[in-house]
Amino acid sequence: MESMLYNTDAIVVRNLTYGETHAIVNLLTPTGLVAAMARGAKKPQSRLAASIQLCAQGKYSIYQNTGMGTLQQAEVTNSRRGLREHLFLAAYASYFCELVLAVAADRPDGSEGLYRTFETVLDRLTNLPDEALTTRILWEVKVLMQVGASPQWTKCIHCGHEDNTLVAYSPSEGGLLCESCFATKSEHSIVTPAKLPNVLENLRKVPAQRIGSIRLSEEVTKAAALVLRMQLQEYGGIHLKSQKFLDDLESDNLLEEFLSTEKTPVSSDRVSKASKVSKRGVQEKCDDKN
Ligand SMILES: [Zn+2]
Repeated sequence: MESMLYNTDAIVVRNLTYGETHAIVNLLTPTGLVAAMARGAKKPQSRLAASIQLCAQGKYSIYQNTGMGTLQQAEVTNSRRGLREHLFLAAYASYFCELVLAVAADRPDGSEGLYRTFETVLDRLTNLPDEALTTRILWEVKVLMQVGASPQWTKCIHCGHEDNTLVAYSPSEGGLLCESCFATKSEHSIVTPAKLPNVLENLRKVPAQRIGSIRLSEEVTKAAALVLRMQLQEYGGIHLKSQKFLDDLESDNLLEEFLSTEKTPVSSDRVSKASKVSKRGVQEKCDDKN
């Protein structure tokens, strides 16, 4: 490969300390993943220090010779500092990053769509911290699509019957079942709430940038989380340490305590935050309450 310097938009999805003062960063760019050495970035006064932080986004200049590139300079346009300052948000952010590392292609074979979706879910996490759980659900639905492991959630995985009255999840077939198929295969299936098919299908079909606030009942949230985890593991082949950590946090109810203290009592503030997320398009309703 010819040596060259190139500039790219990028988001930091992993950083590792290398030696005493260097770091290796993995960046997601609109054309895929790339790794780069950030020399001296761990020194206290390094001009690269801000640009190697997890979830930081900006313009990165990389010198590419043979082997790993070198990060020459970077202009951070969105540091997403808030995501690193709280245990829960940091846990979500690091899980989201691990997922994208597991499924994105290397540069130049990556997809700009995935880059935009990832940027959007990180912004949601920052702007709507009390919707962290539903943002996780949204991101997992999109990741399943990326790896070709997403069924059409309103179509029976066994007989192909299409409606929104599917009643159970079949781990052995990787999708939802209609009532009559469930009757013959109930042993190994998990009963799911009536609203789950439409919720998952909306999240699958609508671009993340166009999805506003997501309000789901606790029942639907739990079912979606369970179904998506099984689908990611069995059909996406994805097993992540950070996922386990996050599951533990969520099941300890610590998350709910955190969320209840973070919730802002002023509803207009909520609305403005939500519209900030969806400013690039029409807000879609993913509400399962009606
Ligand atoms: Zn069926």
